[in-house]
Amino acid sequence: MKKELYKIIISAILFVIALVIPFSNIWINRCIFIVSYLFVAFEVLKEALENITKGEVFDENFLMSVATIGAFAIGEFPEAVAVMLFYQIGELFQDYAVDKSRKSISSLMDIRPDYANVLRDGKEEKTNPADVKIGEEIVVKPGEKVPIDGIVVDGTSFIDTKALTGETVPKKVGKDDEILSGCINKDGVLKIKVTKKYDDSTVSKILELVENASSKKSKSEKFITKFAKYYTPIVVIIAVILAIIPPLIINGATFSEWIYRALSFLVVSCPCALVISIPLSFFGGIGGASKNGILIKGSNYLEALASLETIVFDKTGTLTEGVFDVQKISPVGLTEEELLEIATLAEWYSNHPIAKSIKKAYNKSAEEVKVKDVKEISGKGIIAKIEEVTDEENASIKDVGDNSKEKQVLVGNEKLMEQYNISYEKSKEIGTVLYIAIDGVFSGTILISDKIKDDSIKAIYLIKKNGVKQTIMLTGDKKEIAEHISKEIGIDKVHSELLPDGKTEKMEQLLKEKKQNKKIAYVGDGINDAPVLALADIGIAMGAFGADSAIEAADVVIMTDEPSKINTAIKISKKTMKIVRENIVFAIFVKILVLILSALGITTMWAAVFADVGVTIIATLNALRMLSKKV
Ligand code: ADP
Ligand code: MG
Repeated sequence: MKKELYKIIISAILFVIALVIPFSNIWINRCIFIVSYLFVAFEVLKEALENITKGEVFDENFLMSVATIGAFAIGEFPEAVAVMLFYQIGELFQDYAVDKSRKSISSLMDIRPDYANVLRDGKEEKTNPADVKIGEEIVVKPGEKVPIDGIVVDGTSFIDTKALTGETVPKKVGKDDEILSGCINKDGVLKIKVTKKYDDSTVSKILELVENASSKKSKSEKFITKFAKYYTPIVVIIAVILAIIPPLIINGATFSEWIYRALSFLVVSCPCALVISIPLSFFGGIGGASKNGILIKGSNYLEALASLETIVFDKTGTLTEGVFDVQKISPVGLTEEELLEIATLAEWYSNHPIAKSIKKAYNKSAEEVKVKDVKEISGKGIIAKIEEVTDEENASIKDVGDNSKEKQVLVGNEKLMEQYNISYEKSKEIGTVLYIAIDGVFSGTILISDKIKDDSIKAIYLIKKNGVKQTIMLTGDKKEIAEHISKEIGIDKVHSELLPDGKTEKMEQLLKEKKQNKKIAYVGDGINDAPVLALADIGIAMGAFGADSAIEAADVVIMTDEPSKINTAIKISKKTMKIVRENIVFAIFVKILVLILSALGITTMWAAVFADVGVTIIATLNALRMLSKKV
């Protein structure tokens, strides 16, 4: 960009010299004009020629080349230089704007770690994060980025999660806490056990997402590309007609006069203001959203957010905390302690929020070998085999391979009990009830309760205020709980006791019923509902801390756990669309006006130049407004 700037400065100085100093021979002035011209025009002429050989004749380089060479041909030297000079100033300005918004998005890219300090043979080794294996331990010192996802095994520290979540307050982490790559360690030294490969870590996922964002074009962008394709040849044809026909049929009309008009016409007609400022607005919108902890995977989704009519929410982990507290353990024929242990073992490998909560309540580490043949039945619960190892003696029996020492355990809801024909007693408690059966015998219940996120109520209120007509909640949980929660939050409609397939069916039905130009979003955490995320017009995943499948299936990822960010996303989308519309209307209005004036010969080529560059700069400045964090 520096090089471009120098060329423009030299060209401008020569231009002014040629313009203000009346040399004795006019050809001296003209030569200086030509040199000045070449400084700014060389690249454009070259590109125009190259594109012609490639068969892409009509582009803005072509328009500018024809307009300026034509101006020289009719003896309008200063105009020729001015057109090219100002065109280049406009281009430089655009490059600057694109660069700036790219940088703003790539401030997110700063999360890319350069190395990992891995502990091997008791020594610290600096390696490429991609070479670290699961289970190895890494050390992250103050000021360093966490390179790979893992669990803290030693040390406490404050970590900065700003790049991931937009949250400015540092978060405290200590032993056994999960830690995500992309955070920056602020003060303490942390020893982390790696739980994911670098390629599967949060940081890689996010980088991939951001890098691909600009490849998904919005309808407005596609329209402009298409528009420019037809528009330019049409303009050129009109200009040719304008240059030839009037002098032939109008008495006293001269070719030079009409060619001049045709050339001005070409100058104003350049569509660059639109071609650049519209993608730039979307780019800026995506950048501004990422500053708010909202990752949008493409301009098409940013555009769609503005016409959201219905938002469908998952309950657990989306509107509710998804962190359950165990409220009551009601065993049948065994102790509370035993029932909780058996349930915990069965849930050991599950990532479901319910499983996590049970494990938290149990709060002891279990021997993983005790569980096998785990099957998770989505929307119903878990079935697993647990080896009964209570003391040393029994352990030796196990070695002999006595299968009778294995128990089949079911943990889940009423549907699960019914599926396995367990005779059980329906619980009357309010809350999510887990039924447990051991070897086909009902053995008790565990009552857990989920909390509504503080943010959910505010979110639904704001979303409605922002023009979303309908909010719906889908859940696999019981009807009573679902209705209680939806009333509390202010959701319009609720469908409960759904299996994952049921959620997909409901979404298909909603999509069928909606109006064509209106959009439906689904907000979920990716646990059991990744297909629905993928199916909706816009899939919104809550929390980068949620399931990986969610980040992949979703179109928008909200890095924090706040549903109210959906509202922020809608606002950013609406603002982007408003700026896009402003730019289209403004650019087309000014251009048509100047086009008419120049065809009529009322304006000069100077005015045409200023109209073109002016519109470009104003539209670009307008687009740059999207980059701010504030909405
Ligand atoms: P939601 O639709 O609210 O996100 P899910 O579809 O994930 O809920 O689960 C629906 C119901 O299925 C839960 O309320 C619970 O009763 C049961 N369930 C699902 N997974 C498990 C599990 N791992 N352990 C016990 N119960 C489960
Ligand atoms: Mg769920």
